[in-house]
Amino acid sequence: MAAMPKPRLILRIAVPSPLYRSFDYLPPPDGDPTALAAGMRVRVPFGRTQTIGLLLDVDTDSRIEGERLKAALEVLDEQPVLPTDTLRLLHWASGYYHHPAGEVFSAALPVLLRQGRAARMGKRAKGQGNMESQGQSPDSRPLLNVSQHEAVTAVCGALGGFHAFLLDGVTGSGKTEVYLHIIERVLEQGLQALVLAPEIGLTPQLVARFQRRFGVPLAVLHSGLTDRERLDAWLMARDGQAPIVIGTRSAVFTPLKRPGVIIVDEEHDLSFKQQEGFRYSARDVAVMRAQQANLPVMLGSATPSLESLHNAEAGRYQRLHLPERAGSALHPLIEVLDVRGQPMQDSLSQPLLDLAGRHLADHNQVLLFLNRRGYAPTLLCHDCGWVAECRRCDAHLTLHQGSRLLVCHHCGTQRPIDRHCPKCNGADLRALGHGTERIEQALAQRFPGINMARIDRDTTRRKGALENLLEGIHAGEHQLLIGTQMLTKGHHFPDVTLVGILDADQGLFSADFRGAERMAQLITQVAGRAGRADKPGQVVIQTHHPDHPLLHLLVTQGYHRFAQAALEERREAGLPPYSALALLRAEATGRDLPQAFLTQASEAAEQLDCKGVDLLGPVPAPMEKRAGRYRAHLLLQASRRGDLHRLLDAWVPRLEKLPLARKVRWAVDVDPMEMF
Ligand code: ADP
Ligand code: ZN
Ligand code: ZN
Repeated sequence: MAAMPKPRLILRIAVPSPLYRSFDYLPPPDGDPTALAAGMRVRVPFGRTQTIGLLLDVDTDSRIEGERLKAALEVLDEQPVLPTDTLRLLHWASGYYHHPAGEVFSAALPVLLRQGRAARMGKRAKGQGNMESQGQSPDSRPLLNVSQHEAVTAVCGALGGFHAFLLDGVTGSGKTEVYLHIIERVLEQGLQALVLAPEIGLTPQLVARFQRRFGVPLAVLHSGLTDRERLDAWLMARDGQAPIVIGTRSAVFTPLKRPGVIIVDEEHDLSFKQQEGFRYSARDVAVMRAQQANLPVMLGSATPSLESLHNAEAGRYQRLHLPERAGSALHPLIEVLDVRGQPMQDSLSQPLLDLAGRHLADHNQVLLFLNRRGYAPTLLCHDCGWVAECRRCDAHLTLHQGSRLLVCHHCGTQRPIDRHCPKCNGADLRALGHGTERIEQALAQRFPGINMARIDRDTTRRKGALENLLEGIHAGEHQLLIGTQMLTKGHHFPDVTLVGILDADQGLFSADFRGAERMAQLITQVAGRAGRADKPGQVVIQTHHPDHPLLHLLVTQGYHRFAQAALEERREAGLPPYSALALLRAEATGRDLPQAFLTQASEAAEQLDCKGVDLLGPVPAPMEKRAGRYRAHLLLQASRRGDLHRLLDAWVPRLEKLPLARKVRWAVDVDPMEMF
């Protein structure tokens, strides 16, 4: 009896490339094809070189003619490096964000694994670096108040099934304490907890708090790790040796052996959205991951995003409310300071300066907030009107006095400060506007003898600098604090009794429809730094628009009434969360190319089923030129998410075949958070 011809095995492989498809290979000539499993890394020939891809599937048919298939070179793993639940999540993410699978899968792997290194712990790993399990005796835990207790009970009652919670708690209401209690229960059950924190929020203090409480190995994943440290922490998480995994955005894809709960702290924070390459929202991926894995997920914030509030209203998330500050701390009093017509000294009004003087005289700390670093945002020639601009961006250069440089905050270009106007050779060059550096200088003159701390990206660049400054503040060495939004996250300043917000007006008239939401979150978060413990806080907001309805609501009735009104505006305008958006972005060194490509893309869409989707544009991006490239976008808007994704599914694979697709850099941004 003649043997049936064996069906040929085909390896379907995600190869790190910007192409929207997987690639088929034959198994390597030597080796046992039956040992192959999805999630293993495979070295394959690709173009004229080799690369490492991830095996997605072993199949018996191929879209490519048998003869043309190449054989894979080598299978790198005996066991899959990624477990099936992670593969499933990545498949979903690649589909939902319409990003090429190869890049999505490769983004989920630590660099050393991408390079083909063994999925094994480093030699020095155990008990080192980011996996510290400290021998200290565990921290004592406070008794929860009633709302905290209700929140913990709700989440712990949901363990073992999918349920999304929004922990909506004012700053200092003890949200972190709620997380700690939930995690305690999760660990008791032998499960793991995944905690995501914003870039700036994942501080050594937060990690130390977790360590003190539990005294168990912690896998900490953030951008400051070496490749080796990252792989070790990742393996600890994947193999279940770290009961607690805490990390920034990309940690959402970390495999977990026994996942029990996912917590997203400061869920409104923009740093959860990746703004380039594979543009995903770690918060939204976290919710999908919890759903796929049947886990509870908790999103916590003092200023929940309008999206999450809307989801809570619609019943998709269960809202848990912590209305009071924990312990005895009081809510700060917020007031608007109308600076119209007031004499201003370097963005500081007389009433605010007087107030600061009184708080300082009482030996309290004062915090001033301005979300602009540097000395001044503009250098102007008083003789001819010339302004120092970035050659590579549509932006002014920011003057930095300390480093004596003009710096572009968009592309990083820097050059020495001009002494004479390059246009008219005049010598009367003036710094216009204010940044934190200039405010610091002005305050030093006004309050000689007062010790100041400035906290922004410039003063905290050195490793350990931020920690030093924060320690100095807590030790009472600095009385006057000036800073950008770095000051708004996660830090508690119990002795601060006055918070001054120097400029609330930027957010009110922003080109981005999320500008007001951002402003309200910033103000509320900064305000929440003050008046802890026994010292009540006072918050003063300088504005030229004291009657702006949203600002007025925020100040008189708080973030939630503001959010309701802002949501109502979004509903009337048909903006998210009442519609779904996607942006097709394009950029090129030639000015016309991006728009020409987008026009082709728009025409391609019109040949498809566009029902329920509006195509708006193409238009130049609000900042058209950035880092030497011209940018434009096409906006897709749909009142039903399903309509949008139906169109994207059919349309995106065609984009790479458009005549101009190779002449521009383009990217799809689903649920964009920034329009520029
Ligand atoms: P959040 O994360 O909401 O800003 P934290 O959990 O950091 O709040 O709590 C703020 C402060 O209140 C911390 O110093 C914390 O130790 C304390 N705290 C939290 N819950 C309680 C409680 N139930 N009783 C007493 N103090 C508490
Ligand atoms: Zn001039
Ligand atoms: Zn620039």
